[in-house]
Amino acid sequence: MKTLRGRHNFRWVWACLASLLILAGCRAGTKEAGSSAVITERPSLSETAFRSSLPAETQSATASSASASDSASTAPETPPASGTQAEASSASPATSSASPGGTTTKASSPPTTQTATSASTAASSPAGTSATQPETGSGRLSAHFIDVGQGDSVLVCLPNGQTMLIDAGEAKKGSSVVEYLQSQNITHIDYLVATHPHADHIGGLPAVIKAFSIGKVYMPKAEHTTKTYENLLTAIADKGLKITAAKAGVTVLDEPGLKVTFLAPASDKYKDLNNYSAVLQIQFKDTAFLLMGDAEKESEEEIVARYGDALAADVVKAGHHGSRTSSTQKLIAATQAQYVVFCCGKDNSYGHPHEETVSAWTKAGAALFRTDVHGTITAVSDGKTVTVTTEK
Ligand SMILES: [Zn+2]
Repeated sequence: MKTLRGRHNFRWVWACLASLLILAGCRAGTKEAGSSAVITERPSLSETAFRSSLPAETQSATASSASASDSASTAPETPPASGTQAEASSASPATSSASPGGTTTKASSPPTTQTATSASTAASSPAGTSATQPETGSGRLSAHFIDVGQGDSVLVCLPNGQTMLIDAGEAKKGSSVVEYLQSQNITHIDYLVATHPHADHIGGLPAVIKAFSIGKVYMPKAEHTTKTYENLLTAIADKGLKITAAKAGVTVLDEPGLKVTFLAPASDKYKDLNNYSAVLQIQFKDTAFLLMGDAEKESEEEIVARYGDALAADVVKAGHHGSRTSSTQKLIAATQAQYVVFCCGKDNSYGHPHEETVSAWTKAGAALFRTDVHGTITAVSDGKTVTVTTEK
């Protein structure tokens, strides 16, 4: 037993060394702000799963990653195409389809302050262009809720120039997520998060992993036996990447004015796979984003009990596509969200987002956005104010 553990540790050290080399390669010649730490923690996935997540060949993995990232220099922040000026939307389907496209701004505090802003204020470049705008020094953070139909995919361009992708929709949506990232001039993803092993979240990730150089991969300790899950583990292993456990209290990034933390899962013994969801809090100066994955009531209650008022957020991606099994009253009250995003497919068979959920967030004063109605939704923070732009 001890020997086996020792061997594993040895491989782990190797993996860490490889990781350092990869990072060195990625960062050569680029503006680096906040380096990625070497992985010090790993999930206790099953032996098989963990083995498959270890680099098969350290050397080749290093070489390919380094070359793939040679061109990684800037992480642009270009809002999605076609965002147009409109008034603040409360986003019931009827309202939204009647006034397509929109930009909404609210001051982060007090929550009731709301001012309309022109699209030109929010957009860093004209719609539809692919002009590169260096993110570093732009002082802005953008969260792109990519329209992947019934599923989740969120791209976050951090103000320090780093990028983060949380989920990538179903497998059939992988190529469109790749295209979207390319349209945003992304070449490197610093932090890749698979919130939980369901196909509408991880299905598209193998395509993303193949298409981009990747920094760290975060996944909750939740096993699954589907082919989709195996495909993800294979893609991770093929790229020589390792998995870092996503769980409550794990900090992804902590710099002055910028902090990214996992608030869940808090346990590894949930009945429902959705409750294993990695929940992310992104704090940028006076603004905050809360990405709930598919976390449901049980996890929400743990999160509220543990973090309470610290959950205050400008933007919340509601749990489980706006299902009534999530968005509990306590969570809604704790977040005091100004904007709520539902990632859901048009006419999805689950009826997401459920009416009760829409109603509960609306009553709490949040402006709602949903990908089935608005297409890709982009929320941009300058550290004080969040502006939301929609594709439709
Ligand atoms: Zn889901």
